[in-house]
Amino acid sequence: MKYNEFEFDNYMKKYPDENGFYGRFGGSYVTPELQNAMNEITQAYFTICKSSKFISELRRIRKDFQGRPTPISHLERLSAKYGNVQLYVKREDLNHSGAHKLNHCMGEALLAKYMGKKKVIAETGAGQHGVALATAAAYFGLECDIYMGAVDIKKQAPNVARMKILGARVIEVTEGLQTLKEAVDAAFAAYCREYKDAIYCIGSVLGPHPFPMMVRDFQSVVGIEAREQFVNMTGELPDAVVACVGGGSNAMGIFSGFLNDPVEIYGVEPLGKGPKLGDHAASLKYGTEGIMHGFNSIMLMDENGEPAPVYSVASGLDYPSSGPEHAFLQSIGRVKYDVINDEETIDAFFELSRLEGIIPAIESSHAVAYGIKLAQKMGKGSVLMCLSGRGDKDMDYIIENYGIR
Ligand SMILES: *Cc1c(COP(=O)(O)O)cnc(C)c1O
Repeated sequence: MKYNEFEFDNYMKKYPDENGFYGRFGGSYVTPELQNAMNEITQAYFTICKSSKFISELRRIRKDFQGRPTPISHLERLSAKYGNVQLYVKREDLNHSGAHKLNHCMGEALLAKYMGKKKVIAETGAGQHGVALATAAAYFGLECDIYMGAVDIKKQAPNVARMKILGARVIEVTEGLQTLKEAVDAAFAAYCREYKDAIYCIGSVLGPHPFPMMVRDFQSVVGIEAREQFVNMTGELPDAVVACVGGGSNAMGIFSGFLNDPVEIYGVEPLGKGPKLGDHAASLKYGTEGIMHGFNSIMLMDENGEPAPVYSVASGLDYPSSGPEHAFLQSIGRVKYDVINDEETIDAFFELSRLEGIIPAIESSHAVAYGIKLAQKMGKGSVLMCLSGRGDKDMDYIIENYGIR
């Protein structure tokens, strides 16, 4: 199927279908017991989250607690350096707790409260999702159990401290390689035991239905705000929109505002050290169709069909797959997916810091690097990039490994 302009009228209502499919991607591949829990969440989502009470409470939280709307900034000096194209960023770094992740965590935790759950459960790799969820749990007075590999706990001490200060329980996972994959398994197992009292909160547009849809819908505030702000600011739509893609939640957030417009859309994956398997995490570019963690998408697998080892300088992007909706948008040609390597990313990190006074997350620096490249290719027009988070968490790592440029 190739997309045509009519496909995107009412896109958010048409996709996914009632079984959680975006074309052939998505779905829910879980045990019958877990499927019961997924059905409960789906049903609650469609009744509670579409109610005016829920919507107005979430709106109030977005404004009074998260500090939304976040602004769009025009990057005048960076634009001038690379030609005539005007570059803009949507400032999710200014969202409370410093990244876009709180947008879906507040939605998920509010849903937990309305469903009468006492606890939220999740896994975390680098700790970013754990911190965002611990923030939301503290706000709503929910218990919060975060499963984390023992290796990651050692590596990510500041985020572990943040979670604990916020009142979350960080549960050490000592199976296997003691990293994200084992933490996912442990969190799912805990959820199977506790689903009567708890809700599982996924960290991106991943996992079985309804999570990719729910997380996209909660993140769509980014795209809705950005479209209106951009038109108010410039009188027209941007020519291109760019976002980095790990699981793909910040990207789905900003893309959802522009899918129905004559705007080129680009998702940027991490090429890491190069195209060899194990050196990157560019699943949409180099992966194949398969099922893992409960959903069908494009993913990087080893010869046994297990999730392949992946690498990126940005720990928030090193996941062996991407959300099913990205696989779908790639398959119909609506969104183009391309890659940026570590070196280009670090250059962009310093460019934005030096020329604009904004220190970006290494994840977001992938989008900035691609926006700069695109601007040089386009020659004229405008590019809007999603600055998914701030770079404070990355500064020690950058100084240690790359020095001051
Ligand atoms: C987690 C994270 C990402 C990657 O997650 P997506 O679901 O792909 O958006 C990107 N940027 C920042 C700042 C993050 O913390």
